[in-house]
This record gives sequence, C-alpha cells and structure tokens, in this order.
Amino acid sequence: MVVGADGPAFASVSGEATLQSLVTINDLLARTPADSRDLVAKAYEVAERLHTGQVRRSGEPYINHPLMVAYYLADLNMDGPSIAAGLLHDVLEDTGMTREELAEHFPEPVPSIVQGVTKISRISFQTNRDAQVENLRLMILAMAQDIRVVIVKLCDRLHNMKTLKSMPPEKQIKISEETMDIYAPLANRLGMSRIKSELEDLAMRWILPDDYRRLRELVSTRRAEREAIVEESISFLRNYLGKFFPNLQITGRPKHFYSIFKKMKEQGLSFDQIHDLNALRVICEEENQCYAIMGMIHSVWHPIPGRIKDYIGMPKKNMYQSIHTTVIGYKGVRTEVQIRTRSMHSVAEFGIAAHWKYKEANTELKMDERLAWLRQLTEWITDLNEPSGLLDALKKDVFADRVMCFTPKGDVIELPAHATPIDFAYAIHTRVGDKCIGARINDRMVNLRHRLENGDVVDIITSTMGHPSRDWLDHVVTGRAKQKIKHWLKERNTGEWIESGRRAVVNLLKERNIAVQQGELDAALASILSVYKLQTVNDLLMEIGFGSISAVATVARMNPEWAKPAKRRGARKPGTGEPKKKPASEGSGGIIVDGLDGVPIRLPACCSPIPGDPIMGYVTRGRGVTVHQLSCRTVQRALKDEEEAPRLHAAHWAVGEGRVHPVSLRIVSEDRTGLLNDVSSILSKHNIFIDGCKTKSDHRRGIATLIFDVNVRDVSEVDTVLKAIQQREGTISADRRRRGDSRLS
Ligand code: MN
Repeated sequence: MVVGADGPAFASVSGEATLQSLVTINDLLARTPADSRDLVAKAYEVAERLHTGQVRRSGEPYINHPLMVAYYLADLNMDGPSIAAGLLHDVLEDTGMTREELAEHFPEPVPSIVQGVTKISRISFQTNRDAQVENLRLMILAMAQDIRVVIVKLCDRLHNMKTLKSMPPEKQIKISEETMDIYAPLANRLGMSRIKSELEDLAMRWILPDDYRRLRELVSTRRAEREAIVEESISFLRNYLGKFFPNLQITGRPKHFYSIFKKMKEQGLSFDQIHDLNALRVICEEENQCYAIMGMIHSVWHPIPGRIKDYIGMPKKNMYQSIHTTVIGYKGVRTEVQIRTRSMHSVAEFGIAAHWKYKEANTELKMDERLAWLRQLTEWITDLNEPSGLLDALKKDVFADRVMCFTPKGDVIELPAHATPIDFAYAIHTRVGDKCIGARINDRMVNLRHRLENGDVVDIITSTMGHPSRDWLDHVVTGRAKQKIKHWLKERNTGEWIESGRRAVVNLLKERNIAVQQGELDAALASILSVYKLQTVNDLLMEIGFGSISAVATVARMNPEWAKPAKRRGARKPGTGEPKKKPASEGSGGIIVDGLDGVPIRLPACCSPIPGDPIMGYVTRGRGVTVHQLSCRTVQRALKDEEEAPRLHAAHWAVGEGRVHPVSLRIVSEDRTGLLNDVSSILSKHNIFIDGCKTKSDHRRGIATLIFDVNVRDVSEVDTVLKAIQQREGTISADRRRRGDSRLS
C-alpha cells in the first residue's frame, strides 16, 4: 500500500517510534509562523521550567509531551497562539501555575485556550450517566468559546494514544474506549479525518487487540503485491491525464485498519473483498477540472453504475467535498477514485483546522465559518446516525430535551427544548427580553412563538416600543423568562399603567364636568370588574392604561349619566340633509349615533372602524347598535335593501379624545435583512404603539409579509404611517387590516 503525502506527525501508526525522540524546540520553531516564533519560544521556556523534574510513565521528560502536541498543531498549520497553548496545555493541571499567572505572561487567547483544554481534560466520560451528560455539555461549551480548544485537545489525545503503551492495561482500555466514543467522532464531525482515522486505529489496537493484529498481518502480507498494482495504475493515469492537466497529484490512498474492519463487519465482506479494491486519489487545481478528469477516467476505465458520488455539488455535513467513482481499472482491478482540488483535499484531511492553513497567522475564522462549525458541534450531539453507543445513550437521555443556539457573535445559549425567541431574549438580558418584538433565525424572520432548534443562530429584534404581554407566558419554557415577564406585568400593574389608566378616566370625567370622589370612582370601577372578567380595580385601570379597554366605554358602563359627552357636534341623517333632532348616544368607542340615546353601541369584528373612518350605525335586532365603516359590506348591503335601510343611522366620532384604537397593518416587502427593524422604527417614529408582530417569509419569491398589531388615535395617523412605509425602499404593499385578522396572506 502506498502511503500518501502524510506529514511526519501523521505517519502511520507504525511510524510512532521514530517520532517521539526526534522533535526538538527548533523543529517546532521552524514550523511556526514567523511572527509567532517569540511567543512559541517563550511558551516553551515557561513550560519546560514548570515541568522540570516531571517525567511521563515511559520515563522520558514530561516536556516531550507538550512539545509533541505543539508540533502536531504546527503540522496542522495552526496559528501561533494555538501552538503556544499546545506547549502550555498541562501547566494549569500539572504544575503550580494559576490562570492569573498565565495571563500575566501570555496574551489572549493563549490563557483562554489553555484553560479550555484543562477543563476538558478534567472530564471523565466513564463516571455515571448524569455526570457524562454534564461533562459533554461542558466540553461543547468550552469548545464553542474557541474552537482552537478542541483542536489542541485532539492533538493532546492523539499523542496520549500514541504513548498508551506505558499505561497500565485497565487505563489503556478506558482511554481507548473514551477515544472511540467521544474524540474520534468529534474529530470526524469537525472534518479532521486524518486525526479521526489515527485515533480509531490507535484505539482499536487496545479495544480489539486480536482483530487488530490479524488485520495488520493481512495488510502486510499483501502489501508488495498491492503496491505494484497501485504504482502501475498511478503511472498510467499520470501519462494519460498529465497531457491535459500538468499539475495533477496522483497518489494511492492509505487505508486505515479500523475503517477496513468496520466495512468488513457492516457489509459482511471478507478482507480480500475489501482490500482488493484499489484506491486512488487525484488532486487537481480547480473544481471544473474534477468533472473533466472523472469523464476522462470513465472513457478508459468502465464506471460501475451507482457508484458515482458527487460530494462537490452536494458537500457532506462536515464540509467534505470530492468526487467518488468506482471503475474497472488497470488490469481489470476494481478501483475507487477520489477526485478533488487541493483546497478540498485540505478540508478533507484537516477539516476545521484547514481554515488556518491558507490564512495568515493569527487570523481568526470568519464569523460565518465559525458558526458553521459550531452548528456541526451541536449536530454531532444530536445526530441519530452517529455510530457511538455512549453518544446514543447520552443524546436520547438528555440532549433530546435541550437545544443549543447561538447569538450572532457565536455565544452559546443553552435552553430547554421547545424554547422560543422570547426565552432566548431573556437568556441574553432582561432588557432584551422586555423589548423584543421578533427574531431572525439563520437569517430568516420568525415570530416570537417560533420553536428554536439545535444550532440556530438567533438574532433578537428589539424595539423601544416593545414590551411583554400576558400571552407571552404561554410561549415560554424557561423559568427565567416566565419570572421576568410576570415581574414586568406586575411592575406595570402597580405602576405607570395604572396611573395612566386612572388619568384617562379622571380626565374624561373632568372633560364632561363630572365631579367624582376617588372613593366613589373606585367603587364604580369595582362594580364593573365582572364585565371584563378582571379581579381588581388596578387590573382594570392597567387595561385602560394599556389602551386595551376604552376609558369612554368604562365610564359609560359605570354610570350611564356619566356617558354624556361635554360637547356634541351637529350631524345629519343619511341622505336627508336635516339637522339632527334627538340627542345622540355616545357609547363605547367615543361614537355618536344620531337619533339614538342610551342604546348600547358595539364595534363589530367585521371592519373595526377607528376615528376618522366614515361610519354608520346599524340597529341590530335586540342587540343595540353596531357601528361599521361606511365601506363595510354589512352597510353596503343594507343600503341596497329597502327593509334594511331604515336600520341605518348616521354616526360620527366624538372629538378630542386621544384614546388609541387597535388596528392591524399588513406589509408585504422584499425579504431583506433589517426589514423588521426598518418597519418598526418607522412606526415608532410616528409614535405608534406596537402590540405585536407576526412575520412570514416566502423564500422562493424572496418576499416577506409582516402583520403589525398597533394602536392608533385615528385614521389619519394610519394613513400617514402607511404612506411612510409605502415610500420605504423594498415595500411592495402596505395596508390596513381588521384587527385580529392576522392572516399573513
Ligand atoms: Mn496532555
């Protein structure tokens, strides 16, 4: 078998003996980015001093271990701080140095990475189930802070696995099982397939010693014969493809013991059936060459149907990209060919670490890349297909009822399952929760009742006009959010809303020249609580203060005598042109209906008129008067009907009230980032109070629909703000909806 272009650190398992003694600090520095050499040299100096006198079980100086870990990191082309952290990764655990001292000597992120690695190292996955879950959670959180933590930890584990020989047998098995259950799948999830394969092979050696030994013998006895075929295939391809693609890199592929073993077991195949498969890899320059090369190979070697896989067009979850095809190859030997570009290869081998490879030293991952990997981490926990018994059990037991989400900056927020953006907002800060009006999840707008899922990136949208409402309590699952919402409601219950509710009632009475003592007023308010199904006078005042119950209606209910408005304007009967003859009634909603006095007035659900709308009273059988918009179908139908027409009465709005009325606004817009913010800031600029908001995105058409439940004083206010929204760039339409009509289409 031909071994590919493996670097010294990742040579096959059998190469380990030569590795440990060869590396020196100078070798390490030679592989360190130039501008980090001072940092790494200093880290070595400090680590060596602190570990002086300590030896590993094998008898060699302890410093060899951190030096090798740092060397693996340098070999992965990791940045200076990661390499320095590799050298220092055991000083907090094994020497007297404290985190504070470390921070005095080294700039961030070195101390944080070291601390993260130390935290993970303290984790034992072999204790009881509950502790395992908590441990895994801690590990994920530590990694999420800085992914370099897990890369350092994987290199640490790799070197410990390579030196497992000197451990007592029970530890060899325990550490190997942990490696197989936790660290190899983790490396796989991060796309670090080389480290994954090495960890698996090393662990298999201790967990399945007999299978391991047998496989190893089988591989070595067949090696010479296999290598000959591989070499001939490579030189054939090189001649054939080289004329068109001069810079191709064609190699045989190292096969890993554990992956052969797994394939044999899973597919019930014999060693010969698997091992007789030739495995080649073609690495080219550009993506489109991959497809051209596949075509050329298929024209000389017949492809086996159903074995072509295009992971370039459809990358794997861990971002692996490559074309796979199986052909009847050179001398009729079945040959598996992988075709990929250099950068795809780098990602395939090193996964997340590849992101440091092509970048200047000290360059951090871009936010979106970082988030992509963070999502990988959370999926790793929840993925049902992960072939690991321990993880399976963990995930079923506990992760089923947790979700891990991220802020746009990548901070982890962990919540119970079924949590909503409201829970998320309160987990960030009370002020964010109190002011949230919506959320963008993975760049899509959602409403506050949306259920969060693992790996969601949640951007909470707040507004100065936003505030909690009672129904939020039905949409939160965290105790914290519940408590904060109740607190807010309670605060308002005894605070400003009650005050403003009382002010509204008192001002209204004053306006009508009605003198009422506070005691008398409170008694009157108490007498109508049952109408609104409320418990206390303060509850009622709060609702009035909120604007959800009208002061005018309340006053009329308390005492019909108080219902008379101070001043009335003249009005006409429809079509007659005559001045009104009877005093008009003024009932709920500050409406005057000509010719009717003391008749209860209701606002119907069908059209919800607001001040300024042309309106018409309609006498219903036994249920008083309903007031509709003139344009409402009920009115229009009645106007055309001889029998119905007499039921209609002219109506108009009482003036000077300053009360607010609920309406809904429906806005259709191009779906762009900041949309919800844009619109809600236009509303608040017009001093319009937002009760709630609902959004829906049509991704196919790139259109979003927003429904805002707002409170307005009159129709001109609605018209002004709708005009402003219509003029906003990206708005397709903006119109008024009946309140409660929250249909999004
Ligand atoms: Mn270590």
